[in-house]
Amino acid sequence: MSPAQGEPVDDVSNQLIGLKADGLFRKRLIVESAQSGRIVVNNKEVLNFCSNDYLGLANNPYIIKAFQGAAEKYGVGSGASPLVCGRSTAHSELEEEVARITGRDKAIIFSSGYLANLAIVSTFAPDRGDVVFQDKLNHASMIDGAVLSRARLVRYPHVNTEALGKAVSQKPSGRKLVLTDSIFSMDGDMAPIEELANISEKAGARFGVDDAHGFGVFGSGGAGVLDELHIGQNKAPLMMATFGKAIGCAGAFVSGQETLIELLIQKARPYIYSTALAPALAVAATQGLRMLSAESWRRDHLKMLISRFQKCAGQAGLSLTDSNSPIQPLLIGSASETVAMSERLLNAGILVTAIRPPTVPGNTSRLRITFSANHKEEDIDILVDRLSKCLAEANKKL
Ligand code: PMP
Repeated sequence: MSPAQGEPVDDVSNQLIGLKADGLFRKRLIVESAQSGRIVVNNKEVLNFCSNDYLGLANNPYIIKAFQGAAEKYGVGSGASPLVCGRSTAHSELEEEVARITGRDKAIIFSSGYLANLAIVSTFAPDRGDVVFQDKLNHASMIDGAVLSRARLVRYPHVNTEALGKAVSQKPSGRKLVLTDSIFSMDGDMAPIEELANISEKAGARFGVDDAHGFGVFGSGGAGVLDELHIGQNKAPLMMATFGKAIGCAGAFVSGQETLIELLIQKARPYIYSTALAPALAVAATQGLRMLSAESWRRDHLKMLISRFQKCAGQAGLSLTDSNSPIQPLLIGSASETVAMSERLLNAGILVTAIRPPTVPGNTSRLRITFSANHKEEDIDILVDRLSKCLAEANKKL
C-alpha cells in the first residue's frame, strides 16, 4: 500500500531502525503461566527475577477466591467512571481499608499507578506559574504528570536535598509541589524522605511520596516506607502506592488529608475521565491488604532472601548498589551488552529483563533483579551462580 500524501512513513521506519541499532528495541515476552518465582516462557520453566510481585501474592488462592466471589457478585466491568456510576461498595470498602492501613484521613482508588501520579501533579500543580520539583530518577508517571499540567517541571539531582533546598526556595507566582519515589524503581535505594518533607514544609511546598515499591514491603504490617519512618500525613500530606506490586493485583491509591483527597475527586482528570477499576479487582486488593498483616512471614522471608543475595553476590565479586530493598540492580552500562546478558541468562534458565534508556539514563543500562517471597533460598544460589558464569562469559568475549 502506498503511503498517503504527507504521511511520514520514513520517519517511522527510521525510528525503528535507530532503536535496533542502539540496542533499544523492545521485544515483548509471552508468559505462559501464572506469575510466580518460576514461570513458563517459550515452553520452558525459568526462574523469574524481574516481577514486582514482592510478597508472592499475584497467584494467591485467597485472593483468587475473593476475586472470583466478587466477579459473581459485581460482574466484570465497572461500567463507567467513578463519578458516573462506576464506583461500587467494593471501591468504597477498599478506600476505607487503605485509609486505615496508611493512617490517613481518606483514600481514592485509581485504575493504575500511572493514572494516580498524573492525577497528583495535574491537580496540585495545574497552572502556569506553578512549579513541580522532582528527583531526577522519579518514576516516569510523575514526570509525565507535568506534561498534563501547565506547571514548570524542575528536576533536582538524585537524592540531592541541598539542590532541592535551593531550587524550592524560589518564589513562583503559583503553587509549589515536591514529589519523590520512596524506593526508586530502577535503583532500589531509598529517598531521604524526612529531609525532603522538612525542606518542603519550610518552603511552603506541598509534599507527596510515591510508595509503589515500599508499600507492603516496609513498615509495620506492610504499611509502607512512611510508616517505617513514622512520617504522618501532616509531614507527607499525599501518599500514593499501587496494588499491582506487593499486593499482587492491579490499580492504585492516593491517601492523605481529607481536603486533598476531596480535591482529587473533584478535579483529577485521570479519575473523572477513565472507567473505574473492575470491582472484583477492588475486592481482590482488599483481600491482599488483609494478608499484609496476617502473613508477615512473607516480608520476613523476602528480607532474608535480600540479605542472602547481598552476601552471596558480594562473595562472588558482583558489584551491587546501595539498595536494601527487593530491587537489586546490576549495572552493565551499554544497552546492547545488557540485552546480550539478559539473553544469556534466559538460556541459562533465569529471567531478568534488560532495563535501558529512556527508563534509565544513558550508559546506565542494567539488569534489574527483584525478589519475591515465592523464591526459595536455593533460587538465590542458582541466580548468583548463573550471573557469575554469564558475566565471565561476556568478559571473555570482550
Ligand atoms: N510509580 C512507580 C514508582 C512505579 O514503579 C510504577 C510502575 N512501574 C508506577 C508508579 C505505575 O504504577 P502502575 O503500574 O499501577 O501504573
